[in-house]
Amino acid sequence: MKEGWDLKKILFNRLEVKLTAVFLFVGLVAPTIGVCYFYLIATSLIPQNTIVSAEQQMLLDELVILIILLIAANTTILGFYLSRSFTRPIKELLRTTQELEKGNFSIRANIHTNDELAQLSDAFNRTTITLGKIEEERLQLDKAKSEFLSIVSHELRTPITPLKAQLQMLEQNYFGKLTDRQHESLTVILRNAERLNKIIEDFLEVSRIEAARLKFVFRTTNIEELIRETVHFMEGFAKEKNITLEISTGSLPTIEADPDRISQVLRNLLHNAIKFSPQDSIIQIHAAVKKEYVCFSVKDQGIGLTPDDQIRVFEPFFQVEGTLNRNYGGTGLGLTICRGIIEAQKGKIWVESKQKEGATFFFTIPLVPVKEVEPIKVLFSAKSEIERRLKEEFTSVLGPMGMVEYNELKNKHALDKQYLMEYITSLEDQCILRPASALEFKGKVGNIFGEETNQEKVDETTHRKERRTP
Ligand code: ADP
Repeated sequence: MKEGWDLKKILFNRLEVKLTAVFLFVGLVAPTIGVCYFYLIATSLIPQNTIVSAEQQMLLDELVILIILLIAANTTILGFYLSRSFTRPIKELLRTTQELEKGNFSIRANIHTNDELAQLSDAFNRTTITLGKIEEERLQLDKAKSEFLSIVSHELRTPITPLKAQLQMLEQNYFGKLTDRQHESLTVILRNAERLNKIIEDFLEVSRIEAARLKFVFRTTNIEELIRETVHFMEGFAKEKNITLEISTGSLPTIEADPDRISQVLRNLLHNAIKFSPQDSIIQIHAAVKKEYVCFSVKDQGIGLTPDDQIRVFEPFFQVEGTLNRNYGGTGLGLTICRGIIEAQKGKIWVESKQKEGATFFFTIPLVPVKEVEPIKVLFSAKSEIERRLKEEFTSVLGPMGMVEYNELKNKHALDKQYLMEYITSLEDQCILRPASALEFKGKVGNIFGEETNQEKVDETTHRKERRTP
């Protein structure tokens, strides 16, 4: 994990050093043999046991050492120069590939060596041009998708308002008394119109999140008061199931934030918590300042979520499978919208849960609000797909510990690829993973970030086989 001055790495992990060493070895051995041969002949020619001969011998020794040193220096310089001319284009390719990896499609490799490396560089440049075009098309499609969503939601909302109004008037016998059958039928129609309205409203909200048109009105907000008001608002629903809502907060500051948006997220989490909790249970609402954020949590004693469902719960339209859940209703967009609101403020939202023991939803908002809201891709975004696949890999390799570790990494390091790789190395260092599993894990993570490696061919089940209990 540490980034230090590693002599071993510098000496053995660099092509330049390796090539120079080869040049030095080859360039030194042959001339040295020749010099030694000359030295032996010259020594045999010097008359023995005279004062002059001792001086001549010393001079010869010094001369030989000097020649060898000169040869060594020359071959090192020549070797270094030649190896640099070999490695320069390779380094250029490495640099451009790394830029491409970061999503810079305008990068071009600049190699003019008139050999295979130059051909490789041309091929690389053509590939980046193609990738750039694909990326441009993807962005246009993405924009078209967001615009389509926004237009369709607006258009759908227009007729639904008078439709609902007319239905309500019918139901209240405004146009004459209804028979029981008619009333029953109208109730069903009205309920579904309400549902349709909710879906359209949710779609509109999603389209606002995607187009960075989500409105935030920041004002001085007393968080504690805000929590109490929101909880008070939800108490009516909780009473239906005799559920107790308990608030516990640390000392909370008054901050600049959008209270309506925070309340919207809290209401959604509380609504879900009540929906999925049994009669006479307790829901705990907690908030505390953690570094530059306020961290909120809503803990229930409800049905909970499996590790797989925890992975998918913030995806659009996701609802846990099961007949029971169908009775709960909902659009499956509530948590997606919560995620959009929180991420627009550069906060995080996540869940920890054990099935049948309840779930705790957490979210953070910054003490200093983010006023420049950026678009967040919550519908079928590449980012959410990456997150989903990473979560799957983490739980597949590390079991239940994987979810905790994944959330920790996501919160602290925003799933930076480099950091993930270092993290996997640390698992190997701590003997949590065997080297083969760690390598395979790295390959999979690389694949998720768009790297094609041979790891795809590796049998997925080996993860589990090789896993050691941490
Ligand atoms: P919905 O409008 O359907 O409730 P959400 O996005 O709010 O949509 O929730 C998606 C799904 O996540 C729910 O349908 C439910 O299956 C699951 N879920 C959400 N909150 C909880 C919870 N507190 N306990 C168990 N499951 C939950």
